[in-house]
Amino acid sequence: MKFHQMNWQQRLAAIETTANLEASEKDLFINNYSAINEQMVENYLTSFTLPEGILPNIVVNNQQYQVPMVTEEPSVIAAASNGARMINMGGGVKVTSTSREMLGQVLINEAHFTAVHELVNQQQTTLISIGNAAHPSMLQRGGGLKRITTRDLGDGFVSVDLHIDTQAAMGANVVNTISEAVANYLRGQNVGNIVMAILSNLATESLVTARVALPFKVLAKAGFNANDIAQRIVLANQFSQRDPYRATTENKGVMNGIDAVVMASGNDWRAISAGIHAFASREGQYRNLVTWTHDETTLYGEITVPLPVGVVGGSIGIVPLVKANHKILQVHSANELAAIIAAVGLAQNLSALRALVTSGIQAGHMQLQLKSLALAVGATIDEVPTLVNKLQQATHADMQTAQQLLTEMREK
Ligand code: NDP
Repeated sequence: MKFHQMNWQQRLAAIETTANLEASEKDLFINNYSAINEQMVENYLTSFTLPEGILPNIVVNNQQYQVPMVTEEPSVIAAASNGARMINMGGGVKVTSTSREMLGQVLINEAHFTAVHELVNQQQTTLISIGNAAHPSMLQRGGGLKRITTRDLGDGFVSVDLHIDTQAAMGANVVNTISEAVANYLRGQNVGNIVMAILSNLATESLVTARVALPFKVLAKAGFNANDIAQRIVLANQFSQRDPYRATTENKGVMNGIDAVVMASGNDWRAISAGIHAFASREGQYRNLVTWTHDETTLYGEITVPLPVGVVGGSIGIVPLVKANHKILQVHSANELAAIIAAVGLAQNLSALRALVTSGIQAGHMQLQLKSLALAVGATIDEVPTLVNKLQQATHADMQTAQQLLTEMREK
C-alpha cells in the first residue's frame, strides 16, 4: 500500500518500523496529532510545533500592537522587542503601501512579442471578463483581474502579466485560477506555445514602506555615546549596500522578524521570503532591505518590501492558533498586517545593528543561546537555570563544557 492510501495509524506504524522508533518517540507523534492538520497535508504524521512569543508593543501608524512571533531562534523576539522599544520612544513607525495587487503570469514561447502585445491590447476587455468569470466572487468584492500587460523576455519568450486585486487574501490560488482561465483562452488564439500559467511571487505591486526617525538619544546604551552609535549604524549599513555577503546577513536578520510574524499570522513564509530576496536583487546586485541615514540629531531608517500577506484564506481560517493570533494582532485588513510585518523587520534590524556596532551580537545572543545549549545536552527544565548560571561563568560555553557541568551537577 502507498503512503497516501494508508490511514494515519497505518502510516505511523510503517514509520515506527522503518525508523525503529522507541515507544517514547512514537508518543511524540501521537500526542501532537491534530485532526485539522491531518486534513491540511498529504501523508500526515503529526504536528510539528515551534515556540511562539510576543512582541509586547510596537507603535505603527500611531497605533499600538501586540505581535505574536513564531521562531525557533532564541534571540529574535528579545531583539525585536528591544528595537520596538527604541522605535516607540521615537514616535513609532510610519508605514505606507502601494496598491495591493498580485501578478499572474501566462508564459508563452515561440511567440512574436508584438503579436501577443497587440492581441492583449485589442482583447483586453474580453480577457479580463474571462479571467474574472473564473473567480467571480473576487470581482463582486471589488477585486479581481484589473488589467493585463505584456513583457518581452527575448528569443520568443513572452510573459502576459495579469494584475489581480486579491482583496484581503494573499491570493495564490485565486491568481492561479484566473491565470489558467486566461491561458486556456489564449491557447485558442494562435499566439505561440502557452507553456504555463501561475502567479509570480515577486509581488512588486504589493510594496510596503516603513520609516522611522529616531532622535539619537533613544539609542543610548551604557558605555557608548548615542551619536556614535547612530553614525556607526549608518556605516554598518553601508557595507550591505556594497557587499552582497554582508547584505545577505543583514537581510537574514530582517527576515528573522518578518518570517516570525508571517508564520504566526498563518501566511506563506516561503512566498514572502522568495519575493523579498528577489526584490533585494532588483538592481542587479543583492542589497540590503533597510537603509539608514542620519543628520545632526536624528537617525532615519527605511525599509521597502513586497508583502502580499492575507488576513483570510490559506491556513488562516483553519488553524485555531492562527485565528487566536489574529485576535491578538487586532488587524482589520491585509494592508494593516503588512504594515506591522514591515515595522517588525525594521525593529529587528535596528536592534541587530545597534548591538553589532556596540558590544557585538554575541553578548546578547549567548545569554539566550545558553538555555538552548543546556537543553541540547539533556538538562531538564528544572536543571536549566543552574546550568545556564554555571555556563555564564565558564571560559568556553560550548557543548563539551555544558555536558561536563551537567554531569557534575548531577553527581552532586
Ligand atoms: P484561498 O485559496 O484560501 O483563497 C482565499 C479565500 O478567502 C477564498 O476562498 C475567498 O472566498 C476567501 N475570502 C473571504 N473573504 C475574502 C476577502 N475579503 N478577500 C479575499 N478573499 C476572501 O487562499 P489564497 O488564494 O489567498 O492562496 C493562499 C494559499 O495558496 C496559501 O496557502 C499558499 O501557501 C498557497 N499557494 C502559494 C503558492 C505560491 O506562493 N507560489 C502557489 C500555490 C498555492 P471566495 O472563494 O468566495 O472568493
